[in-house]
Amino acid sequence: MSAQMVEDYDSYRFGIAAGLSGPGWHAIDLEVMWANWASSRAAGLKREDLEAFSVCGARSQLVRKLGPFTYDSRWLEKLRCERCSWVVALNRGTVEQEIELYLADAGGDRRGELLRQIFTAILADAPPGPEATAGHRSELLAHAARHRPVGTVCADCTRQGCADAHGAEVAVCPDAAVVCTECSFTTGSWAGQWQGVTTGECVVGAPCSALLALAEHYGIEAGLR
Ligand SMILES: [Zn+2]
Ligand SMILES: [Zn+2]
Ligand SMILES: [Zn+2]
Repeated sequence: MSAQMVEDYDSYRFGIAAGLSGPGWHAIDLEVMWANWASSRAAGLKREDLEAFSVCGARSQLVRKLGPFTYDSRWLEKLRCERCSWVVALNRGTVEQEIELYLADAGGDRRGELLRQIFTAILADAPPGPEATAGHRSELLAHAARHRPVGTVCADCTRQGCADAHGAEVAVCPDAAVVCTECSFTTGSWAGQWQGVTTGECVVGAPCSALLALAEHYGIEAGLR
């Protein structure tokens, strides 16, 4: 991805930024950032001295070589900030794609459909925020997204695959579960490449109480347990 493509404002208004106070990939509004750069140059400040903030408000640094904040970016397969992602989706009109992104984690489980109903209810109800900025609607959508149902398998399956862990005749991990990874305990950066995996001590099944509270508020029949 060349820097020139990233600077194509019409197609790629949002760039990928690394959060400075925790892991995660955020979106930076390039229109805002370049406007800030221009005014700081006029004021005699150096570019490096300027603080940049993601659209969710986190101190972040634009990583130009990672290209734009899009759905096909391989950098965003993990640790994609849901709060930024919803702001971008609402701005670019890619709400359906955004919903599909989170539903995919349920691995086809019907609990994913509950999430879709919740997203749809929030979109019809919560007031929109200012353009390309986090607001009530985007933040509530992101809250629901963080508590999405996620299909998981046991740690051995994660490390070596189902056949090696349970034998060639076993097609599905016997410990497969659909959980809320936001409510469950998951490994942090200390776990290296196994970051973000549940470890067994605290596993909260989906739909968690956060999703159930949203479902109840919007009069959606959960009945999935
Ligand atoms: Zn963010
Ligand atoms: Zn949860
Ligand atoms: Zn397994």
